[in-house]
Amino acid sequence: MGEKKKKIIKTIRVDVDKCNGCRACEVICSAFHAEPKYSSNNPARARVRVIRHPLRDIYVPVYAGEYAPAECMGRDQYTINGKEYEECAFCRASCPSRDAFKEPDSGLPLKCDMCESDPDLTEPMCVQWCLNDALIYEEREEEVEEDAVAQQEEVEVGLEALANKYGLQNVMDAVARMSKKD
Ligand code: SF4
Ligand code: SF4
Repeated sequence: MGEKKKKIIKTIRVDVDKCNGCRACEVICSAFHAEPKYSSNNPARARVRVIRHPLRDIYVPVYAGEYAPAECMGRDQYTINGKEYEECAFCRASCPSRDAFKEPDSGLPLKCDMCESDPDLTEPMCVQWCLNDALIYEEREEEVEEDAVAQQEEVEVGLEALANKYGLQNVMDAVARMSKKD
């Protein structure tokens, strides 16, 4: 068994009842990730998207999660407090069946990175800009196997090097082909 190591798990809790659909979170996320930083804003590039149906009083911020190479087979519909939500409403994946969480020019998947490119931030930008406190930043400490942490870091460094060399799309296509073989 490997040594235990403490790891900080960062999460953003969403209080849907407090969201009024202002989309400030989308604006600041896209501006923060623009090249150069803050040079533009386009919510289509945001790593958080707000599902808005004002007539039905539905506002749900959803964070971009993992890339999914294929559409899923089963889909769920939710009714919560008498409000009906569409299929895929809460799904965080960038997947082939919808446009959400894809960089509009390149089509490359977007994923929330907790604004980690700026280590001086005390809270992610979207949390800071949500004046209604609908987004709540939380950190917790977990003990994990040191080997597991090292392996994960190695995988991430390796993937980044491959993406830099061959382009992210080629790497994703190769992973998609490999997963079909399994
Ligand atoms: S900034 Fe806050 S209130 Fe505005 S859309 Fe985003 S989560 Fe909702
Ligand atoms: S935490 Fe940062 S990267 Fe993630 S959605 Fe909020 S602003 Fe965007």
